[in-house]
Amino acid sequence: MADFLPEMPKAELHVHLEGSVEPETLHELDPSTPLEELRALYCYADFEDFLKAFGAVGKRLRTPEDYALIVRRLLERLAAENVRYAEIILAAGVVLWKGQRFAPIFDAIREAAAGSPVEVRWILDAVRQFSVEQAQQVAELAAERMDRGVVALGLGGSEERGPAERFTEVFAFAKNAGLRLVAHAGESTGPESVWAALKLGAERIGHGITAARDAELMRHLREHGIPLEICLTSNLVTGVVKSLEEHPLRRLYDAGVPIVLNTDDPAMFGCTLAGEYRLAARQFGFSEAEMRGIAENGFRYAFR
Ligand SMILES: [Zn+2]
Repeated sequence: MADFLPEMPKAELHVHLEGSVEPETLHELDPSTPLEELRALYCYADFEDFLKAFGAVGKRLRTPEDYALIVRRLLERLAAENVRYAEIILAAGVVLWKGQRFAPIFDAIREAAAGSPVEVRWILDAVRQFSVEQAQQVAELAAERMDRGVVALGLGGSEERGPAERFTEVFAFAKNAGLRLVAHAGESTGPESVWAALKLGAERIGHGITAARDAELMRHLREHGIPLEICLTSNLVTGVVKSLEEHPLRRLYDAGVPIVLNTDDPAMFGCTLAGEYRLAARQFGFSEAEMRGIAENGFRYAFR
């Protein structure tokens, strides 16, 4: 089983650029902070703690060149594990929060991705716990760049502190502009959060694992062909599931919910996409045909 997984062509639909930065790279960008101190950032007591670490990494990305470097590093790793297509999430909300100019950063990452064997598209993420006005700015930045590889508006951050309903108008604006829509939901809160994301118009759900508690919701996802972007290691490390045994992936799959596998934040969770496939196959007893079907979903549900 494990043999064909690394060679199998894969698509990565849920990977945060900022979460792909290894501590060693962060040290290159910020030599004044000892490497050990940076490594210590990558340990989390819980989900909120992880969000803080994500912000701390983001803060150290200071120039367009910094962003270009981390794009090159991420794409080298993805290419090495036979990822052919990636939708990379850029926390545009964090760029605005830092007071940086977005245009030169976007131009730099786009240039860094040109020439990679991995076909790249971009998802600009607004941050739930930041203001609605700022999310609107993110949507506008995304809409202006649809001719340059931006395919979707995303919503990330804290589900508890930023309910989806706040962003109804922002998502309506994005949809009108022709952007695709995706939202993290049902990761650290219950199925009602997934319903709220669907109401926004989300066409894929980041995580969505608590949908397994709601039969009606699973039926809705199946009937409307809305996939869940499952990130096993992420869920374990942030503690939203206590153990792999408790992870609902198999239940969701058996209920006919479309599934894609992803890394979320490979450096911050110490995982690779091939490793996530291996973990799923081993833990949940998926056959080779089922694993190939899940990999095909990565291409089927792409926003390109
Ligand atoms: Zn994520």
